[in-house]
Amino acid sequence: MNIHEYQARELFRQAGIPVPDGEVATTPAEVEEIARRLGGGVVVKAQVHAGGRGKAGGVKLAQSPEEARAAAEQILQLTIKDLPVQKVLVAPIVDIASESYLGMIMDRESQRPVIMVSPAGGIDIEEVAATTPEKIFKLAIDPRYGLLSHQAMGLAFALYHDVKQVRAAARIMEQLYQAFVTNGASLAEINPLITTSAGEVLAIDAKMSLDDNVVDRRPDLEALRDESAEAPSEVLAREAGLTFIKLDGNVGCVVNGAGLAMATMDLVKYYGGEPANFLDIGGSSNPEKVVSALRIITMDPNIKAILFNIFGGITRTDDVANGIVAALDQFSVDVPIVIRLTGTNEDEALAILEGVGKTALKDMDEAVQQVVRVAQEAA
Ligand code: GDP
Ligand code: MN
Repeated sequence: MNIHEYQARELFRQAGIPVPDGEVATTPAEVEEIARRLGGGVVVKAQVHAGGRGKAGGVKLAQSPEEARAAAEQILQLTIKDLPVQKVLVAPIVDIASESYLGMIMDRESQRPVIMVSPAGGIDIEEVAATTPEKIFKLAIDPRYGLLSHQAMGLAFALYHDVKQVRAAARIMEQLYQAFVTNGASLAEINPLITTSAGEVLAIDAKMSLDDNVVDRRPDLEALRDESAEAPSEVLAREAGLTFIKLDGNVGCVVNGAGLAMATMDLVKYYGGEPANFLDIGGSSNPEKVVSALRIITMDPNIKAILFNIFGGITRTDDVANGIVAALDQFSVDVPIVIRLTGTNEDEALAILEGVGKTALKDMDEAVQQVVRVAQEAA
C-alpha cells in the first residue's frame, strides 16, 4: 500500500526524524489560512501516490498567503501520472544548502533491507543509478542486528564532511530503519535529505510503501489508506477478496491459485502474448468472486481477450461456470473469452456453459495458444 507524503512524514516524525511542520488542505482558501497561520513563505505540495511531483508542477514555493492560495489553485487542478490531485501539504519554506538522497528498500536479491545514500539528492534516484552509479552507496542490513551505528556513520561520511552533520545523518538513518521495520515498509525514502544554511540536517520529503500483509493486521496503518488515490480496479479487487495486480498486456487472466496464475502468465508470454493482469480467484469457489473478477478485468481498456484457467480441486469448476454465466447475465463482455477448465465437477461445468452457448477446453497449452491468437487478431 502506498501512502501520502504527509502520512509518511508523520511516521518518520514518530521515529524521531526531524521533519518540518506541515498541514494538509483540500481547498485554496484553507491553504491561504494555513499559510497565514504558519507565517512567512510556504511550500505547497501535491499529495498523490507518485514521485516527480516537482517536475510536474506539483511543488510550488509561495512568499505570501495570497501566493500560497494561487499556487494551491493551480496544483489542485493537476493530474500527475494519471492521479488527480485532491490534497496539498503546506509547509514552511526551509532554505536549502545541499540536497542528498536517503532510501531503504526490501531487496529481493540479498533478501534483506538495503539502505542507499547518495550525495546526488533531489533528483530521481533511478536517474542517478543510470548516469552516475558511483554516487550511490548501499549496504544490506542484517535484520538480526539492525543498522549498527558505525555502519550508519560510514554511510553518512559519503554525504557530509562536517562531523556534526555526519552524526545527525547517521541518527536519521537509524531512525529511518526503525520506521521501516516497525511499519512493515517495503520502501522508505527521503529525497531530498537536506542541510540548511544553519547547518541542520532535515527530511523535507517523505515516501513510504507498506507491505499489504502487515497493513492487514495493523488497523492504525489500514487507517492511512486513501482509496480515492488508488486505482479503482485495485480497490474493487481488495473488496472482493481477490489477489489482483494490473499489468500492461492485453490478455486478461482469471486463474485459481497463485502458482497456476504465474504458470499461466509464463505460458501466455511463451506463446507470444502479454498478460494484462495477475488474478487469483483463490481456492474456494464462490460464483460471486468470478463475477467480480470479470468486472475488474473488463475495466481495463487494453483487454483484447480473456482466459479462464481453472484447475478444479477444492475449487468446483461448476461454481466457476455459474459465475461466468451470472457475470454475462449482469453485464456485457465485449471481448472473446477462452475457457479452460478441468477437475472437480467438470461435467456439470461443461453442461452449464453449453446452456449459454460456451465451450471449454481441457488442455492448458491449447487454451493459452488460442487466447493469444485471438488477442493478436483483435489488436
Ligand atoms: P518530488 O519532486 O515529488 O520528489 O517532491 P519534493 O518534495 O522532493 O520537492 C521537489 C523539490 O522542490 C526539492 O528537491 C527541492 O529542491 C524543492 N523544495 C521542496 N521543498 C522546499 C523548501 O521548503 N524550500 C526550498 N527552497 N525548496 C524546496
Ligand atoms: Mn522528492
